[in-house]
Parts: sequence; structure tokens; C-alpha cells
Amino acid sequence: MIDPTARSLTPFGHAPVLVDNAGMKRPLASKLPHVGTTIFTVMSQLAAECGAINLSQGFPDYDGPLALREAVKRYIDTGFNQYPPMAGVPGLREAVAAKVLRCYGATASPDTEITITPGATEAIYCAVTAVVQPGDEVIMFDPAYDCYEPAVTLAGGRPIRLPLLPPGYRIDWQRVADSITPRTRMIMINSPHNPTGSVLEADDLRVLAELAERHDLLICSDEVYEHLIFDGRRHESVLRYPALAARSFVVSSFGKTYHVTGWKTGYCVAPPALTAELRRVHQFVTFVGITPIQLGLAEFMREHPEHLDSLPGFYQRKRNLFVAALAGSGFRTLPSAGTYFQLADYSAISELPDREFAIWLTRNVGVAAIPVSVFYEQPPAARYVRFCFCKNDDTLREGAARLAAL
Ligand code: PMP
Ligand code: GLN
Repeated sequence: MIDPTARSLTPFGHAPVLVDNAGMKRPLASKLPHVGTTIFTVMSQLAAECGAINLSQGFPDYDGPLALREAVKRYIDTGFNQYPPMAGVPGLREAVAAKVLRCYGATASPDTEITITPGATEAIYCAVTAVVQPGDEVIMFDPAYDCYEPAVTLAGGRPIRLPLLPPGYRIDWQRVADSITPRTRMIMINSPHNPTGSVLEADDLRVLAELAERHDLLICSDEVYEHLIFDGRRHESVLRYPALAARSFVVSSFGKTYHVTGWKTGYCVAPPALTAELRRVHQFVTFVGITPIQLGLAEFMREHPEHLDSLPGFYQRKRNLFVAALAGSGFRTLPSAGTYFQLADYSAISELPDREFAIWLTRNVGVAAIPVSVFYEQPPAARYVRFCFCKNDDTLREGAARLAAL
């Protein structure tokens, strides 16, 4: 059980101890002593315990397309159950190449520039591990998705965490330029951005390209929400900018795009030299992703390219439904330009810090949310929680009704 009065949800900073058969205790030096169980696991577990509507961890409560599920089942039933090639099923790499050409005008070789990974998380871990040397500095922006910092730390690198600026969670490029040192190796970006829903503009990428070239930096661009972008905006993929793409790992996830987060399948597009280094690591972390899932995705992508075009409208409608249902409530919603997340300021409702508020909300109101401070090295004073709106309309209406009754 979680102590609602505790400062943190999980035992951060605990010192692990190994007990042998004779009962002898030996301290175990943790490689990630400052890290607890991820907030997503913690909040989803609490939501399940409380029977709460789970608007915390980002996953849909609906299935992916029927034709996709049928295809995967068919591949399972017709003997496609052994290891695929290390870089991924060729047909899926070809489908990704066709997609990045269609969406971003980018040419990427399925053989030397595209790797299928078991989720975007593995791609990010392998990219960081492949190129970050001990002592290298890696710039990332707070609030930062939670897998970035541990990957850098485990590689012996030094995370340099810069705050995104209000309003709108913009990157302060002057501050980035001032933070670059001879040890800076990589900048990690994420657009559309989890948890804030902000998106990078063309000008941001131009400045990034200029800084990266001037200081010979690598980029890890987390674009898992590339197709979830609203109000007619265009996703500014790094792949649209050849000079930037030439020094970038561009990571995405089929989980978000096809409503199948539990299939844990993603990919990385990177120039041949970076791809070769990424694969050196990937082959010993997981070796490959799952064959029938890759084959099913390849078939579905070939036969249903229009699926991608439906996503902005599909999620924009859900965002609007959820935001409209909270209008006039104690929650003040912030702009969400992409992703399936919605930030809300709850300071008119409670003075609790966000972790405690998220627990209270789950237990007492029956709606689970993610406290935003967990994504910061130095959390600001603002009181925000993140709600996930990739849910059936009925789930969203019921969740919002409970929240609006506060
Ligand atoms: N990056 C961001 C910003 C995410 O929100 C997620 C969410 N799952 C991931 C990476 C990881 O994606 P995957 O589940 O494909 O590993
Ligand atoms: N990316 C998802 C989120 O932000 C969670 C993924 C996970 O649980 N690791 O909610």
C-alpha cells in the first residue's frame, strides 16, 4: 500500500541490501539509487486497487484495428513464430521507409537506416547506450519522459536537465546554447511532448540544426506521438530537415499509432553509421522484436495507409470532448497541441502537492491521474496533473463528470 502522506510514491533513495542463505546482509550498490518504480506502474496499480477510472498511464481502453489484429493472428497460426532478422522484418522496414517518404519527404534505406525495436523505449536506450561515453553530457528538457535520464545515467553520461518555459513549454534556445560544453554529446527532444502536449515549430528545428552542426552534437528525437497532432498543425519531424536527420536517431512507436501499446513495437530511423552503432547494442539487449506482430503491422501499413490520416481528427475530437466536459470545473486545462495527454491546473481545488493530490483523486474521486512533478529534476511550484484522453467517449465523460463535481 502507498502511504498518502509520503513525499514520494515509491521508495526513492532506498539502499538495497542482499541477504545470503546464512542471513548475512550485504549492501548492494544500486546503479539507479534515485529511481523508484515508474509512476505509470504505480498509478495504474492504485487505479486498479481502487476501481478508479484510469486516466493516468497512457494506453487506450479500445483495441487496434480489426484487420491488424486478424493479420497478427493469421501470422501466428501459419507458422511465423521464430526469430525475425535482427534489424526487423524487411516488409515492416520497407513500410516505415514508405511512410517517412510519404509523410516527411525523407528517404531512408530499410537495410541500413531503419531498425525495428521492441518499443520506442528500447530504441531510446540503445541509441543512448551506443553513443554516450562516460562523462558525456546529454541535454534534455524538463518535464522529461521518464526513460531518458536513466538511460543516460546507466551509460555513465551526465544528464543536463533544462526547464521548458511557460507559457506553452517552449525550449529556451539561448539557455541551450549557454549550456553546451566540450563534453556535450547529445540533445534529446520530444515532440509532440509528453506530458505537456506542446509541439516544436519549424523555427525550433532550425535553431537545433544550427547548434548541432556548430557543436557537432547528436540528436535523439522521440516522435512517438508524431501522428497525434491537432488543429491543423504539421508535425515537424527531424526527418524533414536533412542536415539534422544526418546526425539524429528518430524514434517512434507503433503502440501509439495503432492503439496497441502492449505490443511494444517501435522503430528507429538513423543514418547508416548511427544505425550500425544502435544495432550493435540492440542485438545484445533484446536482439529482435516479435515476428508475427511485425508481419501484421507491415501488412496493415501497406493496405491501410489512410489510418494515419484519421488519427489527428480522432484524437482532437477526444481532446475537445474531455476539455469541454471540464469547462467550468475547478480544473483549468492547458493547451494540448498533440499527444493524447491533457494537463490540468488543480490549484483552485486543492493545496496538496501533486503526488498526494493524484493519490487522493484516485482514492476519493475515482479518477487516476499522473502528477507532473515526477518528470522534473527540480519541480516548479505549479500544481498540475496529467490526464490521458485515449479512452472511449463514455470513459471520458464519466471521468470528467467525477472531476467536474469537485
Ligand atoms: N516516449 C514517450 C514520450 C512516450 O510517451 C512513450 C510511451 N509509451 C515512449 C517513449 C515509449 O514507447 P513504447 O511503449 O513504444 O516503448
Ligand atoms: N508513455 C506512457 C505514458 O506516458 C506510459 C508508458 C509506460 O508505462 N512505460 O503514460
